[in-house]
Amino acid sequence: PAQQQWYEVDQYVNERLHLNHGLFEQILQRNRKANLPPIDVSPAQGALLQQLIMMSGTRRVLEIGTLGGYSTIWMAQALPQDGQIVTLELEENHAAVARINFEQAGVYERIEQRTGEALVQLQQLADDQVEPFDFIFIDADKPNNPAYLKWALHFSHPGTIIFADNVVREGEIIDPHSTDPRIHGVRTFYDVIHAEPRLRHVTTIQTVGEKGYDGFLMGIVG
Ligand code: SAM
Repeated sequence: PAQQQWYEVDQYVNERLHLNHGLFEQILQRNRKANLPPIDVSPAQGALLQQLIMMSGTRRVLEIGTLGGYSTIWMAQALPQDGQIVTLELEENHAAVARINFEQAGVYERIEQRTGEALVQLQQLADDQVEPFDFIFIDADKPNNPAYLKWALHFSHPGTIIFADNVVREGEIIDPHSTDPRIHGVRTFYDVIHAEPRLRHVTTIQTVGEKGYDGFLMGIVG
């Protein structure tokens, strides 16, 4: 019943605030038709990412976990002319669907897709000595979150925003005995942050909505 209400409130808000209009609705439809799992951010979360990009004056974004590029497009729309997103995805078919979505959204030129294991791609980016990123969105396989966070810090400058999704997981993160590797990954992620002096300006906000009960973490690198 609670889930049903969260869902209906998101539907109401999406409609009243034009959050799931034309392009964005079509992209979600394409992702479902292509059988991508329905784990894109919600429209309301996409709009939040977009506003964070605008507020921070972000020019360069690193995204770990593209899926069909739904979140990528929300962010890309907020970038300045010379902005760029590097987005990493393991699955070739996800990346292929995302590419079509980027073309439809008219943001293809601002997006560099790299396909394969994110950890391999991150090492490659380091080898390529890419410029640091202003905003880093961690949204892939949760067991690797601690490693992704270390890479995120590597690619940061003071002021970089690190944003990670699914860091509450229906409250399961408080269970130290959980055998779920995703929970273990998120808990270890918190341990890394706890010990990281560059991440003192950091918070987690618990959320409910059409995606259930979860939450996101946001930090500003010091
Ligand atoms: N950010 C997307 C959005 O909101 O539209 C959703 C990303 S989805 C939650 C996670 C994605 O990470 C999936 O497409 C999955 O294939 C990808 N992924 C999982 N393990 C990965 C890995 N080891 N390296 C790179 N990508 C991975």
